[in-house]
Amino acid sequence: MQNLATATDWQSLDDQYVWHPYTQMRTAPPPIPIARGKGARLYTADGRDLIDGISSWWVNTYGHAHPEIAAAIARQAATLEQVIFAGFSHEPAARLAQRLTGILPGEQARIFYSDNGSTAVEVGLKMAIQYHWNQADPRTRILAFDSGFHGETFGAMSVGGDLSLFKAFDSFLFQVDRLPTPRPGMESAALALLDRELAKGGVAAFIFEPLLQGAGGMITYAPEVLSEMIARCRRAGVLCIADEVMTGFGRTGRNFACEYLSVQPDIFCLAKGLTGGFLPLSVTSCTQAVYAAFLSEDKSKTLFHGHSFTANPLGCAAALASIDILESEACQADIARIARAQAAFAESLAGHPRVREVRQLGTMVAVEFAAAEATTYFNSLRDRLYDFFLDRDLLLRPLGNVVYILPPYCITDEELLALQRGIEEALVNIS
Ligand code: PMP
Repeated sequence: MQNLATATDWQSLDDQYVWHPYTQMRTAPPPIPIARGKGARLYTADGRDLIDGISSWWVNTYGHAHPEIAAAIARQAATLEQVIFAGFSHEPAARLAQRLTGILPGEQARIFYSDNGSTAVEVGLKMAIQYHWNQADPRTRILAFDSGFHGETFGAMSVGGDLSLFKAFDSFLFQVDRLPTPRPGMESAALALLDRELAKGGVAAFIFEPLLQGAGGMITYAPEVLSEMIARCRRAGVLCIADEVMTGFGRTGRNFACEYLSVQPDIFCLAKGLTGGFLPLSVTSCTQAVYAAFLSEDKSKTLFHGHSFTANPLGCAAALASIDILESEACQADIARIARAQAAFAESLAGHPRVREVRQLGTMVAVEFAAAEATTYFNSLRDRLYDFFLDRDLLLRPLGNVVYILPPYCITDEELLALQRGIEEALVNIS
């Protein structure tokens, strides 16, 4: 057994043995050792405390180490930690499925479990493609927005827009037909291109992040145009997949971004905030019509998909406790309070000479810094901004020159203000 008594001991083990995600291991500074979390704060092993302004990669919805979620997991761990989910079932999975179909907008009827956002997307794509195949109408085309992000597995990379992250795999990704993201001013172009693509026929699915694209740069667009796109897809028999992996569970001010729409998608992908950010669990839900296309005496019409940890009971217990919190009056009031503060902050930055654009939706605010270079993930302002915030004990992780706040809902007014002040100071000091 290694001696892990002090922070420096395990930090050297990390340095020697661990490969971190989205990290250039040659040039990145050593990772910050985190000893514990509480509410919106992360406490480092060497005595600092940071405000987690990005909910630890958008997963932590209600605060770190939330006692009710922790207790639900502990209870479940002492009862049933895991069981094969093919041929077997358990209460937390069944109850969670009922709960989710109840709160998702539209007529979601069935819940398929997996364990991260990318696999939820893979399942959504496979459901949509096989839905047509099972009905002897094989369709091979997928539509997606040009600045979307849907994860890092091969299907998810394929449907993601060109963020220049996955160039090494270009020749391995399947063909996807792109639509322009209908940002303000682009609505007619997006609708016209959608019509053109639909007219060619053979489209199986249209996948999108509803109203707020995350990794593509916190880009927002209006519900009216998305509702119209979904309606046109429906008329062409195309299944619509809403990737609410990031937007789900209150981020946009409502429990799901699709609640702003007048027409609902056929399939939803959920992950991240599903368990309050405690455990990897994800969901792909669908309507009864999608589900029914898989029911057959012919075994080849089965959805042959399932991961080892499908519907992990600990994750399901965490998700049930999380939904209780989400639906509480206190949490809904927090979401509204944060949304108001973010809207006021966005307004205060209008016309700022260092700001290219401010975007705000619900609890999310994004500030696109004016820069000599174009707005991309690789904008050179990024590292200077990240370090500037960390020096002030603020965890904000810019997407290139786009700095955003996506906080846990327990964040206090003072903590949120500290994050906003940090951005204001960066506008003055970082160029
Ligand atoms: N979809 C969206 C919209 C996402 O933001 C992400 C992750 N950032 C994913 C899918 C992939 O989720 P995961 O990282 O859990 O695989």
